[in-house]
Amino acid sequence: MTAGFGGRIGVVGGGIVGLAFAREFLARHPGAAVTVMEKEPRVGSHQTGHNSGVVHAGIYYPTGSLKARLCTQGMRRIRDYCRERDLAYDECGKLIIAVDETQLPALEELHRRGTANGVPGLRMIGPDEIRSIEPNAVGVAALHSPHTAITDFGAIARAMADELRGAGVEIRTGCEVQQIVGGESDVAVDTTTGALRFDHLVACAGLAADRIAELSGDRPDPRIVPFRGEYWQLKPQRRHLVNGLIYPVPDPSLPFLGVHLTKRIDGEVLIGPNAVLAFAREGYRRRTVRLGELVRTLRWPGFRRLARRYWRVGLTELRRSLSRRRFVADAQAYVPDLRAADVVPAKAGVRAQAVSEAGELVDDFAFSRVGRVLNVRNAPSPAATSSFGIAELIADTLDEHLDTSGAG
Ligand SMILES: Cc1cc2nc3c(=O)[nH]c(=O)nc-3n(C[C@H](O)[C@H](O)[C@H](O)COP(=O)(O)OP(=O)(O)OC[C@H]3O[C@@H](n4cnc5c(N)ncnc54)[C@H](O)[C@@H]3O)c2cc1C
Repeated sequence: MTAGFGGRIGVVGGGIVGLAFAREFLARHPGAAVTVMEKEPRVGSHQTGHNSGVVHAGIYYPTGSLKARLCTQGMRRIRDYCRERDLAYDECGKLIIAVDETQLPALEELHRRGTANGVPGLRMIGPDEIRSIEPNAVGVAALHSPHTAITDFGAIARAMADELRGAGVEIRTGCEVQQIVGGESDVAVDTTTGALRFDHLVACAGLAADRIAELSGDRPDPRIVPFRGEYWQLKPQRRHLVNGLIYPVPDPSLPFLGVHLTKRIDGEVLIGPNAVLAFAREGYRRRTVRLGELVRTLRWPGFRRLARRYWRVGLTELRRSLSRRRFVADAQAYVPDLRAADVVPAKAGVRAQAVSEAGELVDDFAFSRVGRVLNVRNAPSPAATSSFGIAELIADTLDEHLDTSGAG
């Protein structure tokens, strides 16, 4: 039986995925001793605190994929959690706009996918309805998702951490995991704040997912390639141009959604993110370069294959990164009144995107397990939305292992 598991569970990473897992595990096994190890002084310091803040409804993802399932499930749970805890949550709705006829087949495909994935209230609308929802937007047609929402995932992570501390979970901040040795009966972990032992370890390390996996003896493939997502924001006097969320029809060959206009929970309106190679895992600024990390990425055959395949897209993204005018031009296609003079720089985020040795961008959420260590290998967008769903999936997997090992 797993219900009475009273052993020690270690979690690497105090982002929204690690914290949601700790919460889920404790709810199933109240007698367990759970420790979260986070290298930064605060939880949610990386992807969880640097994103668009959109609670996705599950439109884009191939039906049957983990993203499709866990996003729709996660969205409901994020909404409920925000309501229970009095955290900001605004169902402002979203339009995906086709600016010309050539984009209609791709938009219809998104409608089909979203409907199959169970996205509530999703429907196609014409130019007049686009104007009634977003008076400054234009297009030949749009997909309207009325329940797509915005929130502050960093605030959710902090609320979860407070709740976990209150329930007796040890959240060790400033605690970097440096070594992992998996044994027959437990896992030994060396950290900057001392040595620890656990019955099982779950790693949700985001931009360091591949490194932690390798430390635990897991295979090195896939690797994390950091893609910076840069944003601009509308000057306060121009925020009225956007009511909610306005997205383009994305390139179906890429896992990124294209430069969009995003209302934030604090009232700001962002334009972005693009996707450019970051020269450091935590390279939030263009000039942040970590030579060792960069050389390691560039030398890796998986990255070279990826670069051969996507060099054109990469070049376009780089040009856009260097020119405010180009950046804004994309969004101008669907909000024509937007001007380059309307925007000022905003803080960037860095995506942890797994890339396989074959040079493919890993599209779905991915996990692997070696001995007593379970590694989250790919949790890019919409993993913040899906965090409760991902947490359930990891806990289910661990429960199976607890069953078969007889632990607890
Ligand atoms: C630009 C951008 C926009 C996005 N927009 C959205 C969106 O609108 N909606 C959405 O749902 N998702 C979005 N995402 C994705 C979402 O933010 C991530 O999928 C999610 O935050 C992943 O959470 P995580 O806990 O896995 O990773 P993280 O939040 O990165 O947490 C991992 C943690 O592990 C810690 N860590 C790493 N190594 C160690 C170590 N050795 N020892 C101890 N701790 C360690 C790190 O410090 C970090 O805090 C976006 C992401 C980006 C970058």
